[in-house]
Amino acid sequence: MPARSFASPHLYRQVPAPPLADNPQVRAALEWFAQNLASINDEQMRLTEIPAPSFQEGPRAAAVKSLLAAAGLSVQIDKTGNVIGELRGANEKEVVMISAHLDTVFPPGTDVKVRRDANRMSAPGISDNGTGLVALVAIARSLHEAHIKPERTILFAANVGEEGEGNLRGMRALVDSYRSRLKAVIALDGSGTEHVTTKALASRRLEVLITGPGGHSWSDFGMPNPINALVRGSVRFINTKVPTSPRTTFNLGQVEGGTSVNSIPYEARLKVDIRSESEDELVRLESALRECISAGVRDEMESARDRSKGKLDWKVDLLGSRPGGELGADSPLLAALRAADEFTGNQSRIERSSTDANIPLSVGIDAISIGAGGNGGGAHSLQEWYEPAGRELGLQRALLTLLGVSGLAQEKAR
Ligand SMILES: [Zn+2]
Repeated sequence: MPARSFASPHLYRQVPAPPLADNPQVRAALEWFAQNLASINDEQMRLTEIPAPSFQEGPRAAAVKSLLAAAGLSVQIDKTGNVIGELRGANEKEVVMISAHLDTVFPPGTDVKVRRDANRMSAPGISDNGTGLVALVAIARSLHEAHIKPERTILFAANVGEEGEGNLRGMRALVDSYRSRLKAVIALDGSGTEHVTTKALASRRLEVLITGPGGHSWSDFGMPNPINALVRGSVRFINTKVPTSPRTTFNLGQVEGGTSVNSIPYEARLKVDIRSESEDELVRLESALRECISAGVRDEMESARDRSKGKLDWKVDLLGSRPGGELGADSPLLAALRAADEFTGNQSRIERSSTDANIPLSVGIDAISIGAGGNGGGAHSLQEWYEPAGRELGLQRALLTLLGVSGLAQEKAR
């Protein structure tokens, strides 16, 4: 895509003066992307080919650390494993963060070799989050090459633990460390430019465990059976009514237990994922799960013929919790994103989702999650793909949003 005209100062009426697009250094940074698309593609391929399952992000973190250092940032890795590169602003008391998660859902040993043809790269993790990570590095490079000094300090964070049981631990640690100074967070996640996530979907992951004495299927028949109890409780739970608005969902995702077909099991486990647009509904659904499991255990005990050989115990553990939250419609971050959309001619819709932005939003810090341009598909599958055509639009949009909230240092940068 050719660089667009920059002569539209009115687009930045919501962003503090001077208008970003009028600044020649910003213009140079925006143009840097189109001039470096081939090397951005190569970098994305290299990063994607370093395996990074959640909790094993170390090697990929080291690679991102040297790329951010080469972009002139002072870089460290914190004790959680997050890579943090700092671009010091005129005002160091306030920071804005742009982040991309390092981890993938793919277990160790997954073939992550990138297959490439004319328009497409394919590999597990190529888009989620190869696209976001390479964008993080490219944006840092563009600011460096254009000698831009921001007003607020900018932190470039490649964070661990976004996926699955990583449970957003990387972003939790970052928000913990910078909370008092942190004014905005922009999470780059996957591809595309058609959405902006401003609403955090609250979710919980729970594990039910029911245990009993266990025994022989024939000689101990009538003894309480944990799998029976789990089935009884589960049937009750899946009949729970959930509202369509606020949208609320549940999923019985994994069942384990038992030793053999002719044994009364000594334990049964069930993993459940519940999500809602409303924190209240989430709380209601979690207590419904506990009540149903309790009732299932009671039913099984009452119908057991032989209670002399022991009873059933049960518990429900919280495996993970992602808090909800929402960006205010009048927030400067949303205004900066809208201005960037207008400038790049992009249209985007607001979405609710479960992302790294959940964590800052839940404590009242402005945050969004956006794609980093181009097109991708098949996320979380071995068939994942990415097409870089149009990537520069996503990079420009992210850069302008970032500078919209960081501001430019008043004294003219070098
Ligand atoms: Zn992702």
